[in-house]
Amino acid sequence: MKKIGKYLGILVIPLLFGAFFYSQFLHIDISNSCAIFLMPTFQPSNLSTKETVSFLQKSSATEYAKLCKHVSVINKNAACGGLDGGCYQPSQPKTIFIGNDQNNIALAAALLVHETCHAIQGQSNETLSEGPCYKAGAEYLQSILIKP
Ligand SMILES: [Zn+2]
Repeated sequence: MKKIGKYLGILVIPLLFGAFFYSQFLHIDISNSCAIFLMPTFQPSNLSTKETVSFLQKSSATEYAKLCKHVSVINKNAACGGLDGGCYQPSQPKTIFIGNDQNNIALAAALLVHETCHAIQGQSNETLSEGPCYKAGAEYLQSILIKP
């Protein structure tokens, strides 16, 4: 009996750990061949990035497809010297940094669109430029507005 308990422990603990890891730190969407690792942070950030990715998926198939294609890691730790918003470093071409969710899921999703735009620039060896990426974020926000 004791032996069975021991084997159950060996099996159950990694399963529980795996389930926790999956629920917190992975966005897996087999039907769209999408897998993104969400790197945890100790920063105060009130919206879950996983929720933001799902929000983007529901609100824009086009922008979501770009995120899936060009980004494999979303790092929530501050980088690039910025305190707010997000940033992108060409030395880590498939990683985007989202420093602050700004308590607004639509703005947070627009931030994903903006940083994905930089990832596309970085991966095609273009000069990183803000203009097109602010435009992409703004166009995304326009597209999800409820028009009167
Ligand atoms: Zn930018």
